[in-house]
Amino acid sequence: MSDKPHQNLAIIGHVDHGKSTLVGRLLFETGSVPEHIIEQYRDEAESKGKSGFEFAYVMDNLAEERERGVTIDIAHQRFDTEKYYFTIVDTPGHRDFVKNMITGASQADHAVLVVAADDGVAPQTREHVFLARTLGIETLIVAVNKMDVVDYSEDAYEEVKEEVRTLLEQVRFGTDDASFIPISAFEGDNVAEKSENTSWFDGPTILESLNGLPEPSPPTDAPLRLPIQDVYTISGIGTVPVGRVETGMLRTGDSVSFQPSDVSGEVKTVEMHHEEVEEAGPGDNVGFNVRGIGKNDIRRGDVAGPAEEPPTVAETFQAQIVVMQHPSVITAGYTPVIHAHTAQVACTFESLDKKLDPKSGEVAEENPDFVKAGDAAVVTLRPQKPLVVEPSSEIAELGSFAIRDMGQTIAAGKVLSVNE
Ligand code: GDP
Repeated sequence: MSDKPHQNLAIIGHVDHGKSTLVGRLLFETGSVPEHIIEQYRDEAESKGKSGFEFAYVMDNLAEERERGVTIDIAHQRFDTEKYYFTIVDTPGHRDFVKNMITGASQADHAVLVVAADDGVAPQTREHVFLARTLGIETLIVAVNKMDVVDYSEDAYEEVKEEVRTLLEQVRFGTDDASFIPISAFEGDNVAEKSENTSWFDGPTILESLNGLPEPSPPTDAPLRLPIQDVYTISGIGTVPVGRVETGMLRTGDSVSFQPSDVSGEVKTVEMHHEEVEEAGPGDNVGFNVRGIGKNDIRRGDVAGPAEEPPTVAETFQAQIVVMQHPSVITAGYTPVIHAHTAQVACTFESLDKKLDPKSGEVAEENPDFVKAGDAAVVTLRPQKPLVVEPSSEIAELGSFAIRDMGQTIAAGKVLSVNE
């Protein structure tokens, strides 16, 4: 672990534009290649009498793991710059990339948008930028990748830069908050070291730019919110719910309430990385034991909070959504599944309240009859089973969600207000 300030970083962009290659390059250049890959390499290198460590090897192995469908533990994708300690919040190429981006995006304040110089803005470039903006990504570093493929041409770079600028303006991402860097993730140009191939470029490298990001937002004074991932029974201890602290502190002796299950009790022990601790804070994965609570009293999808300020169970809630894909149109009565924190609950579109202009965010139509792919809207949703959600303005971590249907993410949203 590092004592530098921690930053969560999302790597976004169209398929094949070079996200994984950039991640591999960043891990390689910062000496942070996952341990198991190094070990595997050492074994193979020994048998073949090779020395040194090869970038190609890292890439092959990351690619192989992806093909095998192995969910690379995102926590393993870490690297340091001089000032910060970075965790990549999602693995590019992951099947649930978009969904994870939505449910996990509240954790990322910054993103690197990868756009291939030989392809320019493509459908997922738009989709990801749209999501990033909806979900509150603050800073965007635009990596114009595969510069080697376009012979490091300044014109090609400027052309793609202009396309991306137009896109950012369309979704009202302040272009002042974005920086542009011509790179080759594959060859290493302008990732860790300034490239002589782009002598016309006088800006920073990717690593310099990451190092220059604003400090992470200070922890809020939001109350404890701990979505439950699993509930175990451990002999000698009892019922142990596990999950990640999103906001606030969990301390032994505190009285916590689980919602929507509506049970509460006193925290006896808190465990982190197999060690007992007195308290845990935002980002900590914990298991804890609560006096008098049985395995069947609580479940995945519950959220733990202070007994005096329990998580809010929504009767209905109003949300702003962006429809990414839907084969037909969404009308009132439609009931897809909402994925919010660790919960998955069917929710009915009770009313379509407003259609928004996706460019300006202004109201384009009151009470529209339907919304379709590409639309932004304000809607009222009614969970079919009790669900904890909270306005994203109050507790961002409990205010963003994905709407899934037919095995696809059809929309992303954030909670505006909750009717208890
Ligand atoms: P992802 O789908 O966005 O993660 O893209 P990948 O990282 O898997 O890259 C897609 C393909 O483009 C792979 O064959 C890479 O080797 C190649 N690629 C990625 N970056 C570069 C680059 O900077 N230059 C060249 N020539 N190829 C690249």
